Amino acid sequence: QATFTKPVTVSLIEGDGIGIEITASVKKIFAKAGVPIKWEDCDVGPVIKNNNTAIPDEAVANIKKNRVALKGPLATPIGKGHRSLNLTLRQTFGLYANLRPAQSIKGYDFLYKDIDFVVVRENTEGEYFGVEHEVNSDNVVSIKLITKEACERVIKFAIDQAVKTGRKNVVVVHQSTVQPKTDGLFKEVGESLVNYNKDIKLQFELLESYIYRSVKDPKIYHDAVVVAPNLYGDIITDLNSGLAVGSLGMTPSANIGTDVSIFEAVHGSAPDIAGKDLANPSAMLFAGCMLLEHVGLSEYSEKIKKAALATIAEGIKTGDLKGKSTNSQYTDAICAKL
Ligand code: ATP
Ligand code: MG
Repeated sequence: QATFTKPVTVSLIEGDGIGIEITASVKKIFAKAGVPIKWEDCDVGPVIKNNNTAIPDEAVANIKKNRVALKGPLATPIGKGHRSLNLTLRQTFGLYANLRPAQSIKGYDFLYKDIDFVVVRENTEGEYFGVEHEVNSDNVVSIKLITKEACERVIKFAIDQAVKTGRKNVVVVHQSTVQPKTDGLFKEVGESLVNYNKDIKLQFELLESYIYRSVKDPKIYHDAVVVAPNLYGDIITDLNSGLAVGSLGMTPSANIGTDVSIFEAVHGSAPDIAGKDLANPSAMLFAGCMLLEHVGLSEYSEKIKKAALATIAEGIKTGDLKGKSTNSQYTDAICAKL
């Protein structure tokens, strides 16, 4: 684990649409909490390099220097044949693990109460490797890449995460019955790591079984970190947000790399409500809290999360949570608690 000297300098990618409003909220709340952080504004472009989407050199240098960034939502660039900026960021900085917690919120009951999931998604390969081939107009092929190296680092990360969050098990999700080579390798690498940490028990579960059981009886997974290949992980984490939370405005995520880590809200730029002071800034705020934990400032993270959750429990909440408050009112109520 890298160490960070205080105050920690953080690259701040404001993003598009509601990104501007929710970034302002996060800055305000962090300042009020007295977090020892210095923000450096960072514009991630995009620019076109070698006929592909790229991030400006200045932004790459800034993020590499600071090693941590907080990112608002980026609108998907329009135009064919270019990578999404999110994928570009992941590839540029080798962000190999996507960490997504999903927890129920007091004061806003959704499909389930008391959900507490932690999922780690492999972030660089699988179906998202992005190579598809048209044999002819009626027959197409997609390449699913799985490497031992990527499996190993993401499963090790999940085990380390179990230790950090006080969980006892890691559930390795795979579908090796139908994909014996690719998913088989993911499972095999997991089996080779059973002694990586003697305190954590590794379990292996087929995707179909995991999906069924996690919806039927989510508590089974409350003492586990679930780790899955890219596509399965993407689907599982969205499913969890839906089960636990019911609003995109509440779910943060961390993209972890060896040198650089980027923390973000999982939602998009929400052009339908942009500029109207209606957005829920919580997802970006909680992403900021994950960043604080990453750089060794957990005491501030705890304080901020507590204030935000207490505000929601009191009924001061934005429209996505069936509340009547604006972003500003919600933000000010959190600040008042701090
Ligand atoms: P993009 O093209 O950037 O992905 P989008 O139109 O797909 O944008 P999303 O941001 O993914 O929009 O959001 C989908 C829906 O959820 C929209 O109706 C949006 O208003 C709502 N939403 C997303 N984020 C928030 C938020 N933070 N607060 C309130 N509502 C939100
Ligand atoms: Mg979208």
